[in-house]
Amino acid sequence: MRNFKKPDVLVSKCLEHGRCRYDGQMISSDFVKSTKKYFNYVPVCPEVEIGLSIPRNSLKIVFENEKFEFVQNITNNNYTSKITQFSSDFLDSIENIDGAVLKHKSPSCGIKNVKVYTAKGNPTNQKTEGFFAKEVLYRYSNIAIEEESRLRNKRIKDHFLTKLYTIKDFKEVKESESIKNLIEFHTNNKFLFMAYNQKQKDILGNIVGNHNKNFDKIIKLYEKHLQLLLKRPSAIGSNINVLMHIFGYMSNKISKDEKLLFIDSLQRYHDELDCLCVPIILLKSWVIRFNVDYLKKQTYFEPFPQELADNSEMFKRDYWND
Ligand code: SF4
Repeated sequence: MRNFKKPDVLVSKCLEHGRCRYDGQMISSDFVKSTKKYFNYVPVCPEVEIGLSIPRNSLKIVFENEKFEFVQNITNNNYTSKITQFSSDFLDSIENIDGAVLKHKSPSCGIKNVKVYTAKGNPTNQKTEGFFAKEVLYRYSNIAIEEESRLRNKRIKDHFLTKLYTIKDFKEVKESESIKNLIEFHTNNKFLFMAYNQKQKDILGNIVGNHNKNFDKIIKLYEKHLQLLLKRPSAIGSNINVLMHIFGYMSNKISKDEKLLFIDSLQRYHDELDCLCVPIILLKSWVIRFNVDYLKKQTYFEPFPQELADNSEMFKRDYWND
């Protein structure tokens, strides 16, 4: 079992942390609920922080004179400078965060696809980020940031959690200023990185292998390529490649039937009939049985706390109505 450090995660306060929505409601979120024990959440409601009441008239983003404005419905009060100032001051005041879970569609917190209106209040085809989210994205372009609604999708959620915990670990390596820790980090993440992006994994390997440069230079370059590597989730084909690689370590130690069982689990994962967890559990059981030390430490087997893995999606289909 990996020893995970608690990440610091910014969260829109209306998501399970307070009744601060314009209508005085709180939003229920399975993701936020299930991660409360595992994250140090930093809740914030930018609209309340700039002095708006609960309840209040809702707000919208208006595009006028080539600029986005933050305007309240009905009163038409303009809060653009207040929210811009607050976002900057607030992010200055908090410690570095490791991730953010923000409320979708909000003119303050939405990270994309927030509606834009004309000054007369008509919707346009334009979409943008919320005012607070824009500052978060600007300052923290490389951490795990997602909208809560998207985290209901298993692939997006797994990627968010993998990125969050990988970057959290990397920060510790960076702070330690130890090349030995960087080598260990890279070694333990070898198969995870291979599943994410083979090309960037090789570049990272070359950076780590170059001991002649000073730590500062190496870590900066490493960080840049780590961020490129974690940009997109791993693909099914890359995962199969990694699973076959790991399988190669024990294929001559297991029985013919066990091999067939593993190959079948790969096919079912490929056909999206089973989740990745099935071939991974099989491999893990053999890693434990044959005590393969090098593989035991691979983060690929547990990129985030197991308790946060949700494989229930595959059981959601209502077979009785088929
Ligand atoms: S979306 Fe953001 S600004 Fe709106 S209620 Fe939630 S926390 Fe407050």
